[in-house]
Amino acid sequence: MKQDFAVLGLGMFGGSICRELSKEGKQVLAVDINEDKVNEFKNIASHAVIADTTDEDTLRELGIKSIDHVIVAIGENIQASILTAVILTDLNIKKITVKAQNDYHEKILNKIGVDEVVHPERDMGKRIAHHIISSNVLDYLELSDEHSIVEVKAGRKMAGRTLIELDIRNKYGCNVVAIKKGKDINVSPASNEAIQADDILIVVGTNNDISKFERHLVVD
Ligand code: ATP
Repeated sequence: MKQDFAVLGLGMFGGSICRELSKEGKQVLAVDINEDKVNEFKNIASHAVIADTTDEDTLRELGIKSIDHVIVAIGENIQASILTAVILTDLNIKKITVKAQNDYHEKILNKIGVDEVVHPERDMGKRIAHHIISSNVLDYLELSDEHSIVEVKAGRKMAGRTLIELDIRNKYGCNVVAIKKGKDINVSPASNEAIQADDILIVVGTNNDISKFERHLVVD
C-alpha cells in the first residue's frame, strides 16, 4: 500500500509525529537505525524499518521516492540529518520537513532547500516563556520573524470593558481578530460588547506590539 508519510528518526519528536499521523489513519513508514526504536513502532506505523537514512540506496529500496511527505527527525546527529536531507532533495521528494537542532543546523537546511525547517525546542521555549511571564498567555505562535499571534485570557484588567474602551489597535498596534467565549468563537468581535474575565482573545501584531499589549493588559 502507498505510504502517505515517512518519518526518519523515531526519537521523542519523530516518534510523536509518527504516533499522531498513525492515529489519524495515515499510512506511515517509520525508519530508525536503532532496532529497539523500530520495534516500538511495529504496531503503530503501517511499516517500521531498521535502516540508516544516510544511505541513498537503502532509501531508494524503501520506496522513499513515491512518498509525498518525508519528515526527518534526527536531531542529535546533525551530520546524519544534513546528509539525509541532501539525499532527499536530490531525490526530488515532493515535501521535506526537517527538525533543526540549532540555528546553524537550520541555516544549512534552508541552504540545501528543504521545504520546511522546524525548531520545536526553540518554539516551545518561546511559548512557555510567554506563559511563565503571565499564566493568562495561553498560547503564542510566531507567524514570521516580525509577527506573532497570541491567545490570552482577558483576566481582570480587560474584564467589563469593550474593545472601544480598551482601544487596543490604537494604543498597542495589535488587532483582536477573534474572541472565544466557552466553546463559541466570534471571528468578528463587536467593538461595543463588554469582555468577560474568562473570555479568550486572539490577538495579532508585530512582536514589539504584542509584547507591549501583554505588558499593559495581560495580568495574572
Ligand atoms: P528527540 O530530541 O526527538 O527526543 P532523540 O534525542 O531521542 O530525539 P536523536 O539523537 O535526536 O534522538 O535522534 C532521533 C532518532 O534518530 C534516534 O532514535 C536515532 O536512533 C535516529 N537516528 C540517528 N541517526 C540515524 C540514521 N543515520 N538513520 C536512521 N535513524 C537515525
